[in-house]
Amino acid sequence: MTSSANPEQTHYDVIVIGVGSMGAATCYYLAKQGVRVLGIEQFDIPHELGSHAGQSRIIRKAYFEHPDYVPLLEKAYQNWQELEGRTGHPVYFKTGLLYIGQKESELMKRIRESAALYQIEMRELSDWQLNAAYPQFRVPEGYEVLLEPDAGFITPEKAILLYVEQAIHYGAAIHTKEKISRWDQTRTGIVVTTDKGTYSADKIVLTAGAWAGKLLPNLASKLTVTRQTLAWMNPQESKPFEFGHFPCWVIADANQPSIYYGFPLLPVGTFGGPIGLKLGHHAQGVATDPDAVNRNVEQAEEASLIQMLNQFIPGAYASTHALKTCLYTNTPDENFILDFLPGTDNQVIVAAGFSGHGFKFASVVGEIMADLALKGKTELPIGFLGVGRFL
Ligand SMILES: Cc1cc2nc3c(=O)[nH]c(=O)nc-3n(C[C@H](O)[C@H](O)[C@H](O)COP(=O)(O)OP(=O)(O)OC[C@H]3O[C@@H](n4cnc5c(N)ncnc54)[C@H](O)[C@@H]3O)c2cc1C
Repeated sequence: MTSSANPEQTHYDVIVIGVGSMGAATCYYLAKQGVRVLGIEQFDIPHELGSHAGQSRIIRKAYFEHPDYVPLLEKAYQNWQELEGRTGHPVYFKTGLLYIGQKESELMKRIRESAALYQIEMRELSDWQLNAAYPQFRVPEGYEVLLEPDAGFITPEKAILLYVEQAIHYGAAIHTKEKISRWDQTRTGIVVTTDKGTYSADKIVLTAGAWAGKLLPNLASKLTVTRQTLAWMNPQESKPFEFGHFPCWVIADANQPSIYYGFPLLPVGTFGGPIGLKLGHHAQGVATDPDAVNRNVEQAEEASLIQMLNQFIPGAYASTHALKTCLYTNTPDENFILDFLPGTDNQVIVAAGFSGHGFKFASVVGEIMADLALKGKTELPIGFLGVGRFL
């Protein structure tokens, strides 16, 4: 694709709206192919007000949400590796992931199904095997423990920065602290209006996270933004919980909705702050406007995390170090939207609705968005993520 002549020099081949998780990777995959790219971000890159802050994001393959994600995950792992190879900086850290839940629960059944379907290595740990390898956990009667050895976590802020740095290296223009107020389709392309100016492009890729609904009125009712909480706890003793000794984990408590998840203690010298053992509750949060989020974490939210740790990981809690909020953007079926926006002649491409489980895919979503923008199609299997299911 070549950029069309424009006397004002504000025309781009592609404008990426929102340079967070998906937008950063998209800018990189576009710029690498030599097209003229502008990425516009309303805040700093990265920042704490959207969906990507907080040091770590779990990556795993035995996908209980939907097995069709597994081929995309295989590519996501490869693409994270490509970023690491290109920059010389690790972003993926393998820790293994323990899944703990009632044997007959839907969650454990779906994990086993995904693993079997795609030959993902998964070990079932007996009580004594768990005690020998991970004595930090206490598992109630009737629960089973599965270990996915190849799972771990990605460092989101660093990955975003590396993608943006690489995008700039390949010639992308990146604007920060510039808010897009609207986009309009014209006879010759798309005009993007911000609080600092207007730009035109042949195509736009909309990767606006929790703000996507504000720029996509027809989809707004299908993109529910919720406030989620994260905690960093000081354990009673550090050593058993340190990176290298302790895995990532997902626990489905039969008495609570949805799942809890957590990470090892990460050394701040390598990973940045906050200090502490990070955990969260992947459950229905309170619906919110992304521009008016209650950033205070209530005592009841903290108490539920402490209670969960005391029950399943005794020793993990001595005191609370930090509490933060983060935003999910949920679709009705909690699956992503990766598609052209209908009625725009394939000029508007959307990556939205990551429903609290998207970061691990950022590396493959960037490639998919670039494919759709530059080739009008992708070989990657995204048929199940079409926007048509909601319109
Ligand atoms: C607490 C929590 C825990 C999570 N844990 C995991 C996990 O373990 N594993 C996992 O895979 N995923 C996890 N996720 C989900 C994952 O982080 C998100 O799915 C992912 O970050 C979404 O990426 P995004 O690009 O859509 O949003 P973001 O990364 O927020 O990026 C969107 C960007 O668009 C910008 N923007 C929006 N509107 C405008 C505008 N008008 N003008 C300019 N810029 C604009 C925003 O400022 C923002 O920077 C978690 C999320 C949360 C909140």
